[in-house]
Amino acid sequence: NGERSSTGDEDPIVPLPQSNDHRWSDTSAYARKKVLQSWVQLPNGNWELGKILSTSGEESVIALPEGKVLKVKSETLVPANPDILDGVDDLMQLSYLNEPAVLYNLEYRYNQDMIYTKAGPVLVAVNPFKEVPLYGNRNIEAYRKRSNESPHVYAIADAAVREMIRDEVNQSIIISGESGAGKTETAKIAMQYLAALGGGSGIEYEILKTNPILEAFGNAKTLRNDNSSRFGKLIEIHFSETGKISGAKIQTSDIAFFLPLIFKFCSFTRKGKFLYIFFAASIFFMLSRVVQCAEGERSYHIFYQLCAGASPALREKLNLTSAKQYKYLKQSNCYSINGVDDAERFHAVKEALDIVHVSKEDQESVFAMLAAVLWLGNVSFTIIDNENHVEPEPDESLSTVAKLIGCNINELKLALSKRNMKVNNDTIVQKLTLSQAIDARDALAKSIYASLFDWLVEQINKSLAVGKRRTGRSISILDIYGFESFNRNSFEQFCINYANERLQQHFNRHLFKLEQEEYIQDGIDWTRVDFEDNQDCLSLFEKKPLGLLSLLDEESTFPNGTDLTLATKLKQHLNDNSCFRGDRGKAFTVAHYAGEVTYETTGFLEKNRDLLHLDSIQLLSSCSCHLPQAFASSMLIHSEKPVVGPLHKAGGADSQRLSVATKFKGQLFQLMQRLGNTTPHFIRCIKPNNVQSPGLYEQGLVLQQLRCCGVLEVVRISRSGFPTRMSHHKFARRYGFLLLENIAEKDPLSVSVAILHQFNILPEMYQVGYTKLFFRTGQIGVLEDTRNRTL
Ligand code: ADP
Ligand code: MG
Repeated sequence: NGERSSTGDEDPIVPLPQSNDHRWSDTSAYARKKVLQSWVQLPNGNWELGKILSTSGEESVIALPEGKVLKVKSETLVPANPDILDGVDDLMQLSYLNEPAVLYNLEYRYNQDMIYTKAGPVLVAVNPFKEVPLYGNRNIEAYRKRSNESPHVYAIADAAVREMIRDEVNQSIIISGESGAGKTETAKIAMQYLAALGGGSGIEYEILKTNPILEAFGNAKTLRNDNSSRFGKLIEIHFSETGKISGAKIQTSDIAFFLPLIFKFCSFTRKGKFLYIFFAASIFFMLSRVVQCAEGERSYHIFYQLCAGASPALREKLNLTSAKQYKYLKQSNCYSINGVDDAERFHAVKEALDIVHVSKEDQESVFAMLAAVLWLGNVSFTIIDNENHVEPEPDESLSTVAKLIGCNINELKLALSKRNMKVNNDTIVQKLTLSQAIDARDALAKSIYASLFDWLVEQINKSLAVGKRRTGRSISILDIYGFESFNRNSFEQFCINYANERLQQHFNRHLFKLEQEEYIQDGIDWTRVDFEDNQDCLSLFEKKPLGLLSLLDEESTFPNGTDLTLATKLKQHLNDNSCFRGDRGKAFTVAHYAGEVTYETTGFLEKNRDLLHLDSIQLLSSCSCHLPQAFASSMLIHSEKPVVGPLHKAGGADSQRLSVATKFKGQLFQLMQRLGNTTPHFIRCIKPNNVQSPGLYEQGLVLQQLRCCGVLEVVRISRSGFPTRMSHHKFARRYGFLLLENIAEKDPLSVSVAILHQFNILPEMYQVGYTKLFFRTGQIGVLEDTRNRTL
């Protein structure tokens, strides 16, 4: 970057003569001069703390810690905060709020294992990639008693509980960040806190034990994260004043990709009242990983765990060999995860299944289904005529699949080589070509896996279900896959990034727009703070009929549509959109809030078309084993109108079936609607390096994440604003009794003002709006303390 380098052709960096002083101690001759600390950006982009030695004209001479001096344009220098502000708890306390100051503050804390920092109302969590001594019962207790007030997930969870009770409004904890930033761990930490409030009735232990099961079946190693969740989860925990533990319920949804989970659990006493917790999760499940995954990544953990941990007897029963023998697992050339013992994990999963009361027999059926999926991947085909039609090879893999799911081998052969097509009420049997047969095989594998997950969730549900009451208030925890950008990005990244774009808007809207609007509406002073809205990018996805999703759906309904025709269509219609760029061949680029991502349309249409094949269902329902039968009937229930093959608008029969992307969008809107009715608490997870290693803090990487999640703007807005607010009515009702004078006749506004006066709240600390009072951070705490003491 030419701008920030110094003058002419002389080398800007020259050694500082006698100084080997790295810490600016007083021994340096320069220290006696009147010096100012300043941030200098080095050619590599990193910021370094320097001391201004002299300034003449437009140039300054700066001394760097390594004993180098640098001549730079004065305007490129960024003021640094005094040492006394090193590592403040809340970025709002920084005198100079700029990018290097924020970066430095987070790093300073990170190096001391203080991974949590507040950015105004947002909690920033920097992934330590190692165990840090911040958790467990003693810490939970400290946050409950508020004897520890440093930023923490526990403090957020605690605030959510308090605000839920105080305001009688549902709360949500929205955890976002890139893949591998620590969202899932953070969600678990929040759950731990809430479960600990339950006080050991046992059921919350069961709930926590669902995590290893869901992770084994729903998480996989990706290039970014060894334990990446391939599903999103909304955990809803309900509180009531009267409820006892009523157990848990998990509901399966009408599509394989979206399985809402609902648990109810746990009663506990809080301030002498009975409360109970209700727990729900919605899951978007990414299925293509079962049959396909990229070099260096893995399929779902459970496959490797099974291959590594199954007992000899089970191996024999399932005809199980090693992971390396299965094509579905072999293609990515990656079988293990550093520091993870799959066999050991397998036993942990079995134990967890015991705890949620999945019987040994059922467990064995589950493992049989997994083995069937693996063996299906090994089924190969031979060409039988000159039209490229194929039949499955009658080998060990075919016979093992038939045995494991309990079907007739000929029926399996038929299902994998022929397709029943409905044309005007007639059924036509079509022979499959090699690629069609492979698709049919993979579709069957995916159906089995999705149904298995669905079924498992149902079993957990049964085990935890005792009642159905759902009253009172709730806290939802959202853990949804983060923004993803790889060298090659496909349909999965397309959906994931779209979801993140929506979440980002929720965040923006809440923290910026609503905030400003509320100030303006209530007639109080407010200096506008601009922020980036991502509405343009969302419109690119959602606009009808010329948006990414609509065009994708349209192309998916054309029998002759291909990935290339899709790409061409997108470029043809969207090239004028500022967030879209058509690239060569099948590629296109979207300018997301978090950066540009180039997608390849390869596989888009196939993945977007519903994969439910009538042939799969027929096959599974003909099986003698109970699981495949259960799968078939649940698939039938879940698809009002099962029709063969892709969406054929022309055929008419299945025109109302929804594409995967459209279902995804629908579920996303439902999710946003649910969140819209809650008071959100945001946690932003930050990944300090791309190699999952402790102690490594890469400025550039952190900065990019801070920028794209708007942390700096949040701090700026919060510092200048009045983040706490309460209606006059509520304020008067809550604190009015503390007043010494008689207020019976007074209106809420007068009562509120009287309270403010009696407690000597400084005028610059609040504003009185038309309907509400607005407070600077921390002000309401004083009143709350007095109130609690008085109660
Ligand atoms: P995400 O859900 O955002 O993709 P994860 O929550 O799975 O990321 O975190 C990735 C990895 O980072 C975890 O497997 C764990 O090793 C590490 N990690 C995240 N948060 C913490 C934490 N608070 N303490 C220790 N390790 C953590
Ligand atoms: Mg995760």
